[in-house]
Amino acid sequence: MENRIYNFSAGPAVLPEEVLLEAQKEFFSLPGVGMSILEISHRSKTYDAIHQEAKEGIKKLLNISDDYAILFLQGGASLQFSMVPLNLMPPKNKADFIINGSWGKKALKEAKRVGTVNIAANMESVKFKRVPKQEELNLDPDAAYVHFTSNETIEGVQWHNEPEVGNIPLVCDASSDILHKKIDVNKYALIYAGAQKNMGPSGVTLVIIRKDMLERSQDSLHTMLNYKTHVENDSLYNTPNTFGIYIIKLVTKWLSNLGGLDAMYEMNKKKALLLYDCIDQSGGYYIGHAEKESRSLMNVTFNLATPELEKKLIDEATKAGFDGLKGHRSVGGLRASIYNAFPLKGVEDLVSFMRDFQQRNG
Ligand SMILES: *Cc1c(COP(=O)(O)O)cnc(C)c1O
Repeated sequence: MENRIYNFSAGPAVLPEEVLLEAQKEFFSLPGVGMSILEISHRSKTYDAIHQEAKEGIKKLLNISDDYAILFLQGGASLQFSMVPLNLMPPKNKADFIINGSWGKKALKEAKRVGTVNIAANMESVKFKRVPKQEELNLDPDAAYVHFTSNETIEGVQWHNEPEVGNIPLVCDASSDILHKKIDVNKYALIYAGAQKNMGPSGVTLVIIRKDMLERSQDSLHTMLNYKTHVENDSLYNTPNTFGIYIIKLVTKWLSNLGGLDAMYEMNKKKALLLYDCIDQSGGYYIGHAEKESRSLMNVTFNLATPELEKKLIDEATKAGFDGLKGHRSVGGLRASIYNAFPLKGVEDLVSFMRDFQQRNG
C-alpha cells in the first residue's frame, strides 16, 4: 500500500486510518449485502441500520437527551448560516452574535438578511486573537438566540467554556471542534457542524436541535430549509449523503473504541501542548497567533519573522511529508490542524522538524 504522509489540512481533513481501512474493506461489497454503500437505496433496511447507528453513535458520545433531534443535512455549515436565522429568528426577528473570527462573520452576514442582529462582542479589534470575556458580552435578554463559533478554524481561537447567556437559546457553529471533548449539550438550543473537519467527509452537516425550537419554524419556509421537514423525516426527506453518514458511523465507533470523548480530549490536549510548547520555547522564533487562554486545540496558528521564512519552512516541510501547513489565505502564516484523527506521532515529528528548522535558520 502507498505510504501516508502527515495531513495538517484544515478541512476536509485527516480521518482515522482504522476508519479508512474499514471503509476500504467494505467498499466493494457491504458484508452480507453484496453491494457497495454507494449503490444501495437510502430507503433500504441496510442503509437504515447505518443511519440509525450514526445517529446513535453521536448521541452516545455527546450524551444527548431525547429532547434533541439529530440531523444529517447537506449544504455544509454554510447553509446553516441561513437555516438557523430563517427558522429560529421569528417571531422576534432579532438575534445576538458573538464574533470571534472569520466564520462568525460569515454567519452574521446571512443572519442580517433575516432580521436585526446585535453584535454582542466583536473581537476583530484585537485581530481575533482571543474570544471575549464574559463581562465583555453585551447581550440582549430578549434576543431570539445567541450565536457563537466554538472554534474559529482560520484564526485558531477556541472557547474552552461556553459563554453564559442566561435564558437566551444558545446556538453554536462547532464545525471544527465537534466531538473533540464532551460538552453539555443541554446548554445549547442548536449545534451545527460540517462533518469534514472532525467527523467525516465533506457533504454532510450535523445539526443537533432542541425539539422545542421547532415551534419557531414557519410553514411558509421552503420545505428543504425547514428543520421540521428534516426532523419529521429523520433526515430522509430527500436522498441524504449516505456515504458521508456511513463514515460518520465508523468514526463514532472509532471514538468509542478509543475510550470516548474524555480519552479523546486528553489526547487532544497532549498533542496541542506539544506544539504550543515548541512555539513558546522558541524564544520568539515562532509567534503564536492566539492568546494563551483562547488557543485552539484543533488549529494551531503561528507566524515566523517574515513571510519569506514562512514560505521556506512550508516548502521544506512539504518535502519532508508534512502537508497542509500553510495558513488560510486571509491571514497568512502557518496553521497546523491537529483534529481528533491526527496522530500524536505526527505532532512529535513536526515539533522535531520545527526545532531543527530554527537551528538551521535561526
Ligand atoms: C469549515 C467551516 C465552516 C464552513 O463549512 P462548509 O461545510 O464548507 O460550509 C463553517 N464554520 C466553521 C467554524 C468552519 O470551520
